[in-house]
Amino acid sequence: MADYRRSLPAVDAVLREPELNSAVDSLGHDFVKARTQAALELLRQNPLPSPGPDAPSLAAQILTDLPPAPTTLHQVINASGIIVHTNLGRAPLSDGAKAAIQHASGVTDVEMDLTTGRRAPRGAATINTLERVVGGASAHLVNNGAAAIILACHAMASKGNIILSRGEMVEIGDGFRIPELIESTGVEIREVGTTNRTHVTDYLGAIDEDTGFILKVHTSNFRVEGFTGEVPIQELATEATVPVVADIGSGLLLPHPRLPNEPDVRTTVNAGADLVITSGDKLLGGPQAGLMFGASDLIHRLRRHPLARALRVDKLTLAALEATVTGPTTPVARALATTRVELRQRAEKIAGQLKIAATVEDSVGAVGGGGAPGVPIESVHLVLPADYAVPLRTGSVPVVGHVKGDRLLIDLLAVDPSEDPIVVQEINAVASN
Ligand SMILES: *Cc1c(COP(=O)(O)O)cnc(C)c1O
Repeated sequence: MADYRRSLPAVDAVLREPELNSAVDSLGHDFVKARTQAALELLRQNPLPSPGPDAPSLAAQILTDLPPAPTTLHQVINASGIIVHTNLGRAPLSDGAKAAIQHASGVTDVEMDLTTGRRAPRGAATINTLERVVGGASAHLVNNGAAAIILACHAMASKGNIILSRGEMVEIGDGFRIPELIESTGVEIREVGTTNRTHVTDYLGAIDEDTGFILKVHTSNFRVEGFTGEVPIQELATEATVPVVADIGSGLLLPHPRLPNEPDVRTTVNAGADLVITSGDKLLGGPQAGLMFGASDLIHRLRRHPLARALRVDKLTLAALEATVTGPTTPVARALATTRVELRQRAEKIAGQLKIAATVEDSVGAVGGGGAPGVPIESVHLVLPADYAVPLRTGSVPVVGHVKGDRLLIDLLAVDPSEDPIVVQEINAVASN
């Protein structure tokens, strides 16, 4: 049988096609050349039984594969059973937040009072909303939780030390550790207590004239059980002569009935913490952001610190955050509120439409992404053969499940009901291949 690979055009011949000129102008010669080489390489991987594309048609094909596809990020269906999945971009935004981003993406009054025409505090409406929800504390916003910790260190402990329990020296993920983050600011950490137990006297004994604050970090991604003890914020706030900063991680503004042990901003402020730090894209269900709450004079100091400028959030984040708090239920909140009965009905409906037999089983999901560690969330999954995992992840709408042994588990906890037909379509596409 003839193999036509030798008749494929050379890279330079394709690049000379006038159609690619404007792509070369906007993306650069190297970028377009790499794409062309990759397209040719793909054609060379197997024998070509008939003549392959010539230079003009290859140029046309490369052009359709190039931006302006809006982004190379894919819309993905999260069938992992983990509601806030860090590798999948944490919280999916509510429809309200998506609309707000669209609305704010043009020219906006983010730093102008339209009645006076003068400069106004950045994102004042979003900040006012957050302050009202948590019941009175002042708020400041930065890029994420890690940025909030850094800003607190610089503004409240520069050239000094902070006190942190050995039981709260948390690695957040991807090798990033809170103690190393703090030390990168030049602040010294005075470690107190042990892995399992820290007493109020440990904290009080470590305070000296260079102590900026005591840091309490919520152990948001692990649990220590057995002979354990930590000092409640309230006790620290009463006993200590230095400020208490609470990094609660998850982003709950108010207590959540289904997560009774997860700290929230309002309760932590009321317990006497001087500063409370949380993330925007975990349980709050909003965009990536670091939320800081405290008394107005402290928050004012944070806002005026030079570093605040480098850590500030953009107008799209401000818009999305406001809509997350005031707008329709977030996907994270909806997932937390679904019952196993609803999930089972959806799973059985999906299974009934599949071209492959799939069993439906009860499962146990998780909040994930730095929230409610060890708290089981009742869920339901469909069971498929494990060799469906790769084609489903690389299909036209990637579906990311969880492989366990020879089974692929498609968990519905974090799948929006509106995505169920896509799950059916994607599984059936694999089944008919
Ligand atoms: C997630 C988390 C952080 C980091 O927040 P980012 O928004 O990811 O920067 C810090 N502390 C705790 C306790 C967390 O759970």
